Amino acid sequence: MHYRVLIIGSGPAGLTAALYAARANLNPVVIRGLQPGGLIATTDEVENYPGFPDAINGFDLADKMERQAARFGTTFIDGLVEQVDVSEHPFRLTTDSGDTHTADTIIVATGASPRKLGVPGEAEFANRGVSYCAVCDGFFFRDKRIVVVGGGNSAVEEGLFLTRFASEVLLVHRRDQLRADPIIQQRAFNNPKMKFVWDTIATEITGNGKVNGIRLQNVKTGAEEVVAVDAVFPYVGHIPNTALFTGVLRMDENGYILTDGRTRTNVPGLFAAGDVVDHVYRQAITAAAEGCQAAMEASWYIDNLDAQAVGTETVSEGLGQW
Ligand code: NAP
Repeated sequence: MHYRVLIIGSGPAGLTAALYAARANLNPVVIRGLQPGGLIATTDEVENYPGFPDAINGFDLADKMERQAARFGTTFIDGLVEQVDVSEHPFRLTTDSGDTHTADTIIVATGASPRKLGVPGEAEFANRGVSYCAVCDGFFFRDKRIVVVGGGNSAVEEGLFLTRFASEVLLVHRRDQLRADPIIQQRAFNNPKMKFVWDTIATEITGNGKVNGIRLQNVKTGAEEVVAVDAVFPYVGHIPNTALFTGVLRMDENGYILTDGRTRTNVPGLFAAGDVVDHVYRQAITAAAEGCQAAMEASWYIDNLDAQAVGTETVSEGLGQW
C-alpha cells in the first residue's frame, strides 16, 4: 500500500498527528507498535490532560484519541515496523507481518521507554506500587513512604515532586554523588522530606499484592537491608525507541532524534514528534502538540512535492533547510 502520511507509533503524538493529517484529507495510516496507545495507555488515571476535569483513565484517553483520528479517515495497522528504507522517495517500510508499505512522508512517534531496574518484583508490582511517572501516580501515595531510584535530573526532580504527597522520599543512588544539576541537588538537600541513601542499589522489590518494601544493597560494604516502603519510582533514565533509525537520523548522544524545532529531521519528508524527541517535558499534552506540528509540516511537505511534480512553484512552507 502507498500512503501520503505514515505514522509510526500510537501514543498521543502519533494519534494527534493522525487526527490532523486525516482532517487534511491525507488518509494517514498509523502502525500501532508494541504498546497501542503509548505509555499513557498504561496509566491508571490522567488528571492533567485538559478537558477532563474529573480525570480520565489513560487507556480511555488513548482510545478516544484513536477514535477521533479514525472518524476522519485514519487507518490503523497492528504491528511493528521492522525495516525502513528512507534512501529514496517514496520511503519503504516492512512490518513484522512481512507487509511492505510505501509513503511520501513518515512521522516517527515511537516514544521512549523507561529504563527498568531489572530486579525481581519490578514487573510483578507494576502499577501496584511500582511506577515510572510521579506526575501521574504520586497523588496515590499521600502520606506514604516512597523510594526513588536514580541520581539524575529526573530522579531528583520527580523525588521533589513526590514530597508534595509523601511523608518521606528516600532517594537511593548507586554512587555518593548525584548526577542532577547542582541547583536541583540543592533544592533536594534543602527539602526536609528528602532522605538520601548513597552507594546503594535496589536488588528486589517486595510485596503482597502491592509493594511493601525494597531490598537494598550497599555497593561498598555489600550489606543488605529490606526497607518498608509503599511505592518505588525508578528513574534510571529513559530509552528512546529509535533503534530503527540508527545511522539514518541525526540523534543526540542519548539516542533522541534531533529536529529543527519544527519536527523536521535531517531526512526531508521524515518528521519526529513526542517522547522520541523530547527528554525534558515527557507529557501527553506536549507530545500531542508536537504530533499536530508534525502533521502540519508533513502536509506542507506534500503540497510542495505535488507542486514540484506538476512543475509549479513551491506553494507553501515545508522544504526548509537546517
Ligand atoms: P540520566 O541523566 O541518564 O540519569 C539516570 C540516573 O540513573 C543516573 O543517576 C544513573 O546513575 C542512574 N542509573 C542508571 N542506570 C541505573 C541502574 N541500573 N541502577 C541504578 N541507577 C542507575 O536520566 P534522566 O534523569 O532521566 O535524564 C535524562 C536526560 O534528561 C538528561 O540529559 C537530563 O539532564 C535531562 N533532564 C533534564 C531535566 C531538567 O533540565 N530540568 C529534567 C529531567 C531530565 P549514575 O549517575 O551513576 O550514572
